[in-house]
Amino acid sequence: MIFIDGVGIGNEDYQNNPFFKYPFKTFTQIFGKTPSIKDQVIESNNSFIFPADARLGVEGFPQSGTGQTAIFCGVNAPKIVGKHFGPYPYSTLLPIIQEQNIFKYFLKKNKKVFFANAYPKPFFDYLKSGKPRLSVTSLSCRFSGVRLNHATDVKKGKALTAEITNEKWNQKLGYTLPVIKSETAARRLLKIAFQNSFTLYEYYLTDYIGHGRHEGDIEPVLNTLDEFLFAILSEMDRSNTTLLICSDHGNVEDLSIKTHSLNPSLTISAGKYGKYLFDTIKDISQIKKAIIEISR
Ligand SMILES: [Zn+2]
Repeated sequence: MIFIDGVGIGNEDYQNNPFFKYPFKTFTQIFGKTPSIKDQVIESNNSFIFPADARLGVEGFPQSGTGQTAIFCGVNAPKIVGKHFGPYPYSTLLPIIQEQNIFKYFLKKNKKVFFANAYPKPFFDYLKSGKPRLSVTSLSCRFSGVRLNHATDVKKGKALTAEITNEKWNQKLGYTLPVIKSETAARRLLKIAFQNSFTLYEYYLTDYIGHGRHEGDIEPVLNTLDEFLFAILSEMDRSNTTLLICSDHGNVEDLSIKTHSLNPSLTISAGKYGKYLFDTIKDISQIKKAIIEISR
């Protein structure tokens, strides 16, 4: 599973929707077209693009804390809290994340799980600093004893940085990691996924861009993501692996606003049970259950 923060299906808008403004070959070459509000479902070669509702019957813009709890714990988190909340999960959701996160489900069944992201040293220092505020995924790992990868794991090719190519870790955090191509990162993730029942990789620069924090380098960031996803979809072993790409709320698909959007979340499925995921997932709180079903 590849979780991409803040990507919805937006309007066919060549000014404000970067998936129309810039080339995105994952859509144009693999699916033959780019999804839009008018064209939300695209099927090609047993791969599916489809919308997943992120509003979950609660007013306001969907947020990451409740949205990610919905995805990774399979509950209507905004309804439980009474509102969309983020970016970190609302305190009342912590016991739910502790007990119901998807990693815990697989571990209870004695199945192997892997969280493919690596975290830099400042993050581990922050973890030791008392009561850190954490995202749903890192909290899920802490609650279930799933190991968080370090820079050394990236060096060994056994984990990925959240920016895929390692460049920014070198530039901004002073690491001397080998800079890798998106395709190399994709192959590493496929290899890791092959060894586990459930593998998660999380990408969040899309949400940063959508909030206007990456002014200027929207195109290179999306290009890196595009090459990564294109390689995943092109090279995955479709007879043995199921891929789900999902998101917690819209954001980057509408650059005219710096907030999140009300658009449905972009969802892509492919591989062995790709069709089942496409048939089953209508909103983001149904993702966990659908993944459990196909892993039985
Ligand atoms: Zn988010």
